[in-house]
Amino acid sequence: VSYPSIVGEMLASGFGIIGFSWICSPACTELEVVVMDWLAKFLNLPEHFLHETEGPGGGVIQGSASEAVLVAVLAAREQAVRRERECHPELSESEIRGKLIAYSSDQSNSCIEKAGVLAAMPIKLLPAGEDLVLRGATLSEAIERDVAAGLIPVICIATLGTTGTCAYDDIESLAGICERRQVWLHVDAAYAGGAFALDECAQLRRGLDRVDSLNFNLHKFMLVNFDCSAMWLRDANKVVDSFNVDRIYLKHKYEGQTQLPDFRHWQIPLGRRFRALKVWITFRTLGAEGLRAHMRKHIDLAAQFEALVKADERFELVAPRALGLVCFRAKGDNEITAQLLQRL
Ligand code: PLP
Repeated sequence: VSYPSIVGEMLASGFGIIGFSWICSPACTELEVVVMDWLAKFLNLPEHFLHETEGPGGGVIQGSASEAVLVAVLAAREQAVRRERECHPELSESEIRGKLIAYSSDQSNSCIEKAGVLAAMPIKLLPAGEDLVLRGATLSEAIERDVAAGLIPVICIATLGTTGTCAYDDIESLAGICERRQVWLHVDAAYAGGAFALDECAQLRRGLDRVDSLNFNLHKFMLVNFDCSAMWLRDANKVVDSFNVDRIYLKHKYEGQTQLPDFRHWQIPLGRRFRALKVWITFRTLGAEGLRAHMRKHIDLAAQFEALVKADERFELVAPRALGLVCFRAKGDNEITAQLLQRL
């Protein structure tokens, strides 16, 4: 967390904005559009994710990675149901819904499985490789098997920076399979996403031009306090079409004239906090270079810590160091590590 972000949070609380539509607070919507494009440029994301680029892509601030994943899962589900109803008019909607299936890796965060529970759609946790990476071949096998059994694949949620070891799923090979099978590909980069901003981490961005949506938490690596989870969609219309429920009291006279998104259709709640303010103040105060320097410092500290672990014969590494994460254990019985963890 940083002081600029805390100031932004206090101001947002003080203003008491509940920005569920543009008219409630034009600044709340418009600043979010601005900072989401700044962030996309900062992270070197493909241009189709920017609001300023002609086309249906754009970014939104969700409260948490869990919400971002749930939004992707629900939107992908609704798109799949519509597609199947068109292709198979002989099937009832409930028959289609009963056949839906989604995929992730056994290394993915608990929120992925939870999204499946909330969306009433089973998410198969596929075995990651020895290096804890999920690859296209594993996804392809699972999809072939499920399609043969009459199921309908909907979405694959890949992770860049798994919670356990900060492993990176192979987005390019997963994208190849998803494109062939019309499966939505979402990337959960909750922790590692900030590193997209670093030239030395450019390889982490491989394949992002082929994903349908992604999320990353500014409240993890970017000095912005909880809650602040950035989410980008290649085609936001797919989310808006899935979630758009209007009422007379939500209408206003400038509707359709502003060219600005109504973010209430991009999220689960109706009301919205002015989260963009803390992102804006953090960026304006620390600057892109200041934020990069902060992330590099974390990475350097991890390298220093790794050197200490390697130099100490009581400990060993259990996974390659990745960004700010060093996974280590005490040599010998696992109980020693369990006790050390308790003491820490
Ligand atoms: N995804 C990953 C990879 C995570 O590491 C975490 C949290 O540790 C989450 C999702 C959940 O984040 P949130 O608390 O924002 O829902």
